Amino acid sequence: MSDITPLPAPPRLAIADSDDTFPVARVFCIGRNYADHAKEMGAAAEPLFFCKHADAVTPLTRLPFPPETDDLHHEVEMVLALGEGGAIIASGVGVDLTRRDLQAKLKAKSAPWEIAKAFHQSAPTGTLRLGPPPASGAVTLSVNGEPRQSGDLSQMILDPQAMIAELSRYFVLGPGDLVFTGTPAGVAALKPGDRVEACVEGLPTLSFEFLAETAS
Ligand code: MN
Repeated sequence: MSDITPLPAPPRLAIADSDDTFPVARVFCIGRNYADHAKEMGAAAEPLFFCKHADAVTPLTRLPFPPETDDLHHEVEMVLALGEGGAIIASGVGVDLTRRDLQAKLKAKSAPWEIAKAFHQSAPTGTLRLGPPPASGAVTLSVNGEPRQSGDLSQMILDPQAMIAELSRYFVLGPGDLVFTGTPAGVAALKPGDRVEACVEGLPTLSFEFLAETAS
């Protein structure tokens, strides 16, 4: 017997100072984990969880601009990489790209967020660093060299261990899983051709740029 179709290879993330890679299985995201961002969204500062698919994650530094949105927002986030038993084995920087226009419509209908959040290449992610994640440090994002987002890891409502514990009530976490840990205030729109630099103090910087064309 054989499979009737092959599966695509998982996205793989680089590891700092190593030739090894991290293969991505699943992507869990936490929303409203910084009070100042929850406030700018007009929402209560009560963390919530949602998911993206593995194909959201991309290490590419030049990306087609996502289709079907007139309001694509950036959200810089520390990303946790999990191993056996859901243990945190590495961390890095990611951007949770969001079709904010569609998300607003879905929220108004109390509908699921997938088409606003879980699309192809919606989670550019940088090189991971092995070891425990930093507990504090600046979280910043700039677009074409202009500062947009600024916060500090110490402002997170749920810290990494608390969010792993909370997620583990509902999911069996394991090797290859990523957790996007939420974003500070200052989210705003991106345009085709924009160059994004996302930083978490102590972790490898993530840089990527959008092509001038929108993906079909
Ligand atoms: Mn987010």
